[in-house]
Amino acid sequence: MRPRKKPNLPKRMTAAGAVLVSEPFTMRGHWRELFMAPADAALHVELGPGKGGFICEIAKQNPDILYVGIEKVPDVLVMAMERALAEGVTNVRFIRGDAALIAEYFEPAEFSRLYINFCDPWHKNRQAKRRLTHRNFLRLYAPLLGIGGDIHFKTDNRPLFDFSLIEFEACEYGLTEVTFDLHAEDAPWNIVTEYERTFSAKGYKINRLVATVLSKTLDTPAQ
Ligand code: SAH
Repeated sequence: MRPRKKPNLPKRMTAAGAVLVSEPFTMRGHWRELFMAPADAALHVELGPGKGGFICEIAKQNPDILYVGIEKVPDVLVMAMERALAEGVTNVRFIRGDAALIAEYFEPAEFSRLYINFCDPWHKNRQAKRRLTHRNFLRLYAPLLGIGGDIHFKTDNRPLFDFSLIEFEACEYGLTEVTFDLHAEDAPWNIVTEYERTFSAKGYKINRLVATVLSKTLDTPAQ
């Protein structure tokens, strides 16, 4: 099915523009100034926030942490922007952009946590490099997170999760909290994303891990 045309998209983007960072490249190294936050304020990034349920909720729970979502599809991005405004969340901003450009948006050690929730699995082998947990991406993220920074990754897609475990290990991240069935565990802190709700209702188990940048992570050579 072809996506329905969204004739109001430009209007809606403009109306919700207060939470969109229109020139993200100029913000590199200056995100805390944008939020008018102290220099030591924590900054967390989400790749592919989709409709924004997760980032808005976690931002409400942590009003002292700054959140930036990088989303490439305007149709869902605008929904996330509208949600942040409707819910009065003040510590979230969005970039209309590509995760592949993350090192152009942020300088080394500028943020300390990266959330990747239900990213596209790109199931064909020849598409592996597009997966946001491919080692090329993991090497890109590590210096931006800095030592001690971490990636929180969730997916319903077991082949993608198994692939990701290999990639994180190849890049020498420290893995903790690895689970193949998050919802079977006692995890009251878990914020269920839109995709998580859909896929777990269909019977898929939710996989999750936390990957921490160690000093050896920064030393892994490109292959
Ligand atoms: N995190 C949400 C949406 C998951 S779907 C949830 O869990 O419900 C994956 C999302 O990532 C989509 O919104 C898609 O547009 C976005 N996305 C995919 N590749 C991306 C990329 N390279 N850069 C930024 N966003 C991307």
